[in-house]
Amino acid sequence: MKLGNIKKQRERKRLNSIYDYTLDELKSQLKPSFRAKQVYNWLYKKYVTSYDEMKNIPNDLKELLKQEYPIDILEIIKREKSSDGSIKYLFRLRDGHTIEAVFLLMKKKKIDENGQIQRSEKFTVCISSQVGCKVGCSFCLTAKGGFVRNLTVGEIVNQIVQIKRDMQIPENKSLNIVYMGMGEPLDNYKNFVHAVKVFSELDGLAISRRRQTVSTSGISKKIERLGNEDLGIQLAISLHAVDDELRSELIPMNKAYNIQSIIDAVKKFPVDTRKKVMFEYLVIKDKNDDLASAKKLLQLLDGIKAKVNLIYFNPYPGTSYQRPQSSDMIKFQEYLVNKGLLCTIRESKGLDISAACGQLKEKELNGST
Ligand code: SAH
Ligand code: SF4
Repeated sequence: MKLGNIKKQRERKRLNSIYDYTLDELKSQLKPSFRAKQVYNWLYKKYVTSYDEMKNIPNDLKELLKQEYPIDILEIIKREKSSDGSIKYLFRLRDGHTIEAVFLLMKKKKIDENGQIQRSEKFTVCISSQVGCKVGCSFCLTAKGGFVRNLTVGEIVNQIVQIKRDMQIPENKSLNIVYMGMGEPLDNYKNFVHAVKVFSELDGLAISRRRQTVSTSGISKKIERLGNEDLGIQLAISLHAVDDELRSELIPMNKAYNIQSIIDAVKKFPVDTRKKVMFEYLVIKDKNDDLASAKKLLQLLDGIKAKVNLIYFNPYPGTSYQRPQSSDMIKFQEYLVNKGLLCTIRESKGLDISAACGQLKEKELNGST
């Protein structure tokens, strides 16, 4: 057997779910190649969960697909609905591990007095990229369980398919994706990039890359690599602190990739002309909620097309960190806005359903729900 074929076979073994493949990959593997588009249509527009439902696929091909490309779906084991319309999902993977994703209603439907829809609702789904996380941030519950494994491409992709299916979201209704769930997406670089490509397939979910935002704790060299690929996705940086001492306490990896290295990498990142790089700033009482920090943040972001998103620290049992005062959040925001920097306070979407990632899973493990 030729070396190339052995490599291909290995690849195929590793990629063992139909959701792992871009359309071009499937086209090159299925004969005749137009079948790939039909399969894609069933999976991503009709959300079917078995090959038997694919009416226009011949039986012999169905049998081959069942063998070689299983439809590996995530099992929804819990849903928690919040009063603001957000829904947190807990999924079980094939090996028994669990991950979370959150469906967020960003804007409600607006109907005028004549019953005409003025604006349709806007959805965002926050998805996970790993089981656990290696980065080990001191404020994050996901970090507490350590790192278990990377998600496969199919496991990343299927979170969106299951949620669209569960919520009965029509195929042509677009939504935004944020990679802000469990795990560090850039630490699962290849699978994450591959998933971005699968999501954006026009014959599939057709979620444009401009509607996808990756959030990273700041692995500078991977930010540069991503920038060089020019994928067209949006970037969010979990900055959380303006001096290296505090940032290293919050995010130990800061010792290897300090604040300046992140700022340098962001400055090289290709940003869509209509967009900005988002800087997430988790606000913790008496740690980073003062105006001196706001001032330093403004200086750091000088020269970057940036917007800042302030996030309330969400406490959980066993943490010594505290939620900041609303008045301090507002002062922090006002300082930046008055200086001309776009700054929002993340609405406490889903707060009553264990807001921060890792918290639904934690409840499940403790049997407290
Ligand atoms: N690993 C990436 C991807 C998202 S992490 C990153 O760190 O950017 C999950 C998100 O949850 C991050 O935005 C993080 O700031 C937030 N988060 C983690 N613990 C939190 C807590 N206790 N309260 C509020 N937000 C928290
Ligand atoms: Fe990992 Fe992000 Fe949690 Fe840090 S905040 S431990 S990078 S998931």
